[in-house]
Amino acid sequence: MAAVLVAGVLVADVVVEPAPVPDEVTYPALAMRDVTKTYALGAVSVQALRGVSFTVEHGEHVAIMGASGSGKSTLMNILGCLDIPTTGRYVLDGIDVRDVDEYDLAQIRNRMIGFVFQSFNLIPRTSALSNVELPLVYAGVKGKERRRRALEALDQVGLADRVEHMPNELSGGQQQRVAIARAIVTNPAIVLADEPTGNLDSSASSEIMQIFVRLHNEGRTVLLITHEDDIARYSARVIVLRDGRIVEDRRREEYRRHEAVSAP
Ligand code: ADP
Ligand code: MG
Repeated sequence: MAAVLVAGVLVADVVVEPAPVPDEVTYPALAMRDVTKTYALGAVSVQALRGVSFTVEHGEHVAIMGASGSGKSTLMNILGCLDIPTTGRYVLDGIDVRDVDEYDLAQIRNRMIGFVFQSFNLIPRTSALSNVELPLVYAGVKGKERRRRALEALDQVGLADRVEHMPNELSGGQQQRVAIARAIVTNPAIVLADEPTGNLDSSASSEIMQIFVRLHNEGRTVLLITHEDDIARYSARVIVLRDGRIVEDRRREEYRRHEAVSAP
């Protein structure tokens, strides 16, 4: 029993319910609905995506597979906010990318997404450390703090002893590790990778996959494109594209979830 004031009038004997606290609203990490992408090439146009719908929850580890030309990179570029759909919706952690301008999209990308490419895309004649510092430059992180975080990211990928090396002084696997350090230095919740092991031999590939497993175990959402079954086996979910459409989306109990014991 309690007395409460309703519109300034004392009302007795009212059971006061606590104000309902809304559950924290959570959105899927990524959600696409009917996404299409058409590239115009002069008179011809190429329909790279023909209506793609799927949702990825936070903390999933997804492999995207499909033949060359099936639209994997196009899909990944849209997921990574490097490109936008021709039609359809893409909602990134509750943000519909149609609602934000290019500047904001770049900010969101920088804050939420780490991107790893097949060809590493490191800046030549620039040390591993400076390459990894770059996203922090864009994020406005200054001086010592920037250096500290870049060193920490390089340490996480097992390259603490290579920070002053130039890309051409590193093996392919090491260059990709620098690229992963660059992708995670801003601590993004989502890591996207387009054939990250495509240019690597099998031993470097498995080292790289150990790192992705660790990033996933730390709670990050990981999506990676591969056409190797061996690499896809690290994922609990496999999405297969054919001719710009999802033709398969399956989960499996058996996948390589083993802890990465230490950095390679
Ligand atoms: P995947 O990564 O699966 O090999 P892509 O997404 O790169 O496939 O390409 C899908 C289709 O879109 C292909 O036919 C490709 O030639 C075409 N395509 C990709 N990027 C462009 C572009 N920038 N301009 C024109 N066509 C493109
Ligand atoms: Mg591709």
